[in-house]
Amino acid sequence: MFRTIEQSDRQLWFELSDDQKAIIGPLREFLKTEIAPGAVERDKSGDFPTEIVTQLGELGVLGMQVPECYGGAELDTSTFVHIIEEIAAVDGSLCLTVASHNSLCLGHLLAAGSEDQHATYVPELASGKKLGAWALTEPSSGSDAASLQTRAVAKGNTFTLNGSKSFITQGTVAGTYVVIARSDPPQEGRPRTHGISAFVIDGDSPGLIRGKPEQKLGLRSSDTTPITLDNVVTSTEGLLGQRGEAFTDVLEVLDGGRIGIAAMGIGLGRAALEIASRYALERRQFGTPIAHFQAIGFKIADLVTELEAARLMTLRAAALKDAGRNYTMAASQAKLKGSTVGVEACDAAIQILGGYGYIKEYEVERMWRDARLTRIGEGTDEIQRLIISKEYLKRFH
Ligand SMILES: Cc1cc2nc3c(=O)[nH]c(=O)nc-3n(C[C@H](O)[C@H](O)[C@H](O)COP(=O)(O)OP(=O)(O)OC[C@H]3O[C@@H](n4cnc5c(N)ncnc54)[C@H](O)[C@@H]3O)c2cc1C
Repeated sequence: MFRTIEQSDRQLWFELSDDQKAIIGPLREFLKTEIAPGAVERDKSGDFPTEIVTQLGELGVLGMQVPECYGGAELDTSTFVHIIEEIAAVDGSLCLTVASHNSLCLGHLLAAGSEDQHATYVPELASGKKLGAWALTEPSSGSDAASLQTRAVAKGNTFTLNGSKSFITQGTVAGTYVVIARSDPPQEGRPRTHGISAFVIDGDSPGLIRGKPEQKLGLRSSDTTPITLDNVVTSTEGLLGQRGEAFTDVLEVLDGGRIGIAAMGIGLGRAALEIASRYALERRQFGTPIAHFQAIGFKIADLVTELEAARLMTLRAAALKDAGRNYTMAASQAKLKGSTVGVEACDAAIQILGGYGYIKEYEVERMWRDARLTRIGEGTDEIQRLIISKEYLKRFH
């Protein structure tokens, strides 16, 4: 006979496990007491929060998926998703710093690096002694990443890198950079993605020139900077993965990164909706709390439902990744949904707060500005739709 499973015995895959609760509980407390109070001020000043980032390193947040042998927390991707959502809910800028450091720079090093490269670079990144940056985008190459112009010329056992990179998160503050460049010309009969290589470069390498941090709409205390590579020389030991074959790794890194950006959109949307819901219960117009007007209550109902759907999609992509299954389409779907719904929830929160929603003190306008990036970074909405349609249509060939 089938055994009756008690409700309390059931492990619901989308809920926090006891292990996850033990991590998220103290983290929430830390975020509430140490991070949330300064978020408005950091948004105004645009100052990068070096001290906070150091504290996050001590908490293990900067090496979330790094194996324990390199000093990391070795968390699975669904735990990573929950943590990213929590950080986004209090400070979008800090969330982008954490997400890009973990998913892009460390993600690429872990996926393609040799054991020697892991031992050299990963422990300092996982502990937060150094921050990581990942440099793919260029002034004339964004969505069409394979058209990049940065060149890596091989000579003996060295490569010399020349080119410009744009919008690099941690561009000024990073100690370790993963740089994508063309090392070999495209060959006839081979895709143009062939010939692209990745390099790990020390922040103090001669010729690595950091530009002026960008003045952004949102995510103002995250560091976004153009960088120039002016004859940066690296030995062949700096080559990450196989020469000329890095584009496959780049796509894998972006798949992983998109799970983080989805969670970031959801965290920002959730936080804005919470502020709006509390406000709607307190704010009275026409003699009644505005939450009791269906126009407001239904808006809240739709958004909480959409956010839940986005969260489930993101956790599904995370579960597929951890199971070693293909998750390209799932990650793009999660990113498209999480970022769109996140922005919609922030926008609706501004509307629910009325005039106060437009005032900085109430925070929802900052959340909207921060969330807007999630529809652009690590592949725009349009690029996610291209990926989803391509992956889905494969089934009908
Ligand atoms: C705050 C911030 C942080 C970032 N951090 C990093 C980082 O750390 N590292 C890094 O390498 N990059 C980073 N980026 C760059 C980011 O990934 C790119 O901005 C993004 O991929 C889009 O590229 P683009 O800006 O060149 O836009 P473009 O590619 O020029 O696109 C412009 C518009 O055209 C649309 N479009 C382009 N191609 C198509 C198509 N085939 N079909 C339909 N529509 C299309 C796009 O969707 C978009 O709407 C960051 C950007 C920002 C703003």
